[in-house]
Amino acid sequence: MSQSTVDQLTAALGAAQVAVDDASRNARRHDYWMVSHVRDLVGTPADKPLCVVRPRNVEDVQATLRIANATGTPVVPFGLGSGVVGGVIPGAKAILLDMGAMARTRFIDETNLLASFDAGRMGLSAEEEVATHGLTIGHWPQSVAISTVGGWVATRASGQFSSAYGNIEDIIYSIEAVLPTGELVTLGRGPRAAAGPDLRHILMGSEGSLGVITGVTFSLRRAAEARALSCFEAPTMQGGFDLQRTIIQAGWRPPVVRQYDERESRRLDARAKACLILMVHEGPAALVAVETQAVAALAEAAGIAAAPTDIVSNWLGHRNHVPGWDELTSRNIVADTVEISATWDKIGLVYADAVKSLAEVPGLLAGSAHSSHVYRSGLNLYFTFAVMTDGPAAMEAIYMDCWRRILEATDTNGGSLAHHHGVGRVRRDWLPRELGDGGVALLRTIKAAVDPNGIMNPGALLPDA
Ligand SMILES: Cc1cc2nc3c(=O)[nH]c(=O)nc-3n(C[C@H](O)[C@H](O)[C@H](O)COP(=O)(O)OP(=O)(O)OC[C@H]3O[C@@H](n4cnc5c(N)ncnc54)[C@H](O)[C@@H]3O)c2cc1C
Repeated sequence: MSQSTVDQLTAALGAAQVAVDDASRNARRHDYWMVSHVRDLVGTPADKPLCVVRPRNVEDVQATLRIANATGTPVVPFGLGSGVVGGVIPGAKAILLDMGAMARTRFIDETNLLASFDAGRMGLSAEEEVATHGLTIGHWPQSVAISTVGGWVATRASGQFSSAYGNIEDIIYSIEAVLPTGELVTLGRGPRAAAGPDLRHILMGSEGSLGVITGVTFSLRRAAEARALSCFEAPTMQGGFDLQRTIIQAGWRPPVVRQYDERESRRLDARAKACLILMVHEGPAALVAVETQAVAALAEAAGIAAAPTDIVSNWLGHRNHVPGWDELTSRNIVADTVEISATWDKIGLVYADAVKSLAEVPGLLAGSAHSSHVYRSGLNLYFTFAVMTDGPAAMEAIYMDCWRRILEATDTNGGSLAHHHGVGRVRRDWLPRELGDGGVALLRTIKAAVDPNGIMNPGALLPDA
């Protein structure tokens, strides 16, 4: 049956679009999830997919899904594989659908501030093209140069400038997708609609489990006229949280607001003695000037000192450096980041409980956090853990224990268990805690209706039944 699926794909798309060679399949065994890398090290690597299909257009995606649906063959969409939660582990029976050949610009509309791309377009390349028109998507994940616009939607991503420009759900205008039956849908056709539930949200965060996103249209912004930087140093994390809350609830909207605990502050800048708060202000020059002054006044009123703004410019310059896991594993270190969110009254408790719990892990080198996305009702925390181990064989269990500690601390205090990396495999068993049993049942019902043969990315997002 497997061979006949490949034969059917080859007949429908052409041999050039269906790779069965070892190198292509080997390169698409998994995404950037550390556990997959650890499994490679310990000799239990993920299987190579059945084949790698590279659609050139929507019709190729439709043909692929029709064949997969008829033959019951799993399909795993793949953007650039920068996902960090194990969303891509296709296994030996699956078609790996590599969207990299679908990377066209469909249109850029300067009047209505819209830009549309094929879903496989690399994010930075899309941003650079709209920038030539004096526009910006305004979505800056650290992985902007190693992720696709379709991947952003599929994972419900968040960028570094989100505090004013919003997360992906605030930037998306419309989504085009192919469902498992091969049917094409385009969701979103005006600046706003009250036409039943907003179906775009079913695809945002679907992680390849409901269909293949083939096109993404963004609602753009004009490039900011002015930019200014602010930096402060709060004596405690809670003091910093309180200042952030005061600023955001007063109505000020710096696109970048980041707060680092003491450990991370020292790593960011050796001069730091407490908790650094970095801000980037953008917009019309007059607004930027007023906001910068207002924020400084609020910090002064809170007794929080200003810090040198070169800390912010240094961060801007180096913010997208992407470390490879090999740098760590070669020194027997297992590490990861875990992002969560909570309301203002709970975020300090989550931070304290998680850091305290991580401190109990033998060999802990770092158990720290910063915030990077602020909202009127609360903010996120982005925990980092790094643990010295006896070697790769011990890494997966330690890794899972650190994740458990952070998610337990979040759950116990009523926070949300996933801010922007998604669920994949690392969080799927935590989904009932986030959505409740009823929420998981609803998601299963939607999945069963849209994908009755269960071909789309099995094993990711939903816990085993
Ligand atoms: C160093 C680093 C920094 C990062 N920083 C950020 C950050 O700042 N903010 C953030 O939000 N994330 C961040 N990430 C996580 C990751 O980059 C995002 O999740 C990104 O959106 C994934 O895009 P991708 O194209 O690489 O998707 P992939 O990794 O290829 O896929 C991710 C998931 O989406 C599905 N998928 C991909 N494309 C499609 C499609 N066209 N249709 C349907 N499903 C699809 C896959 O099946 C998989 O389940 C970071 C990752 C790394 C390694």
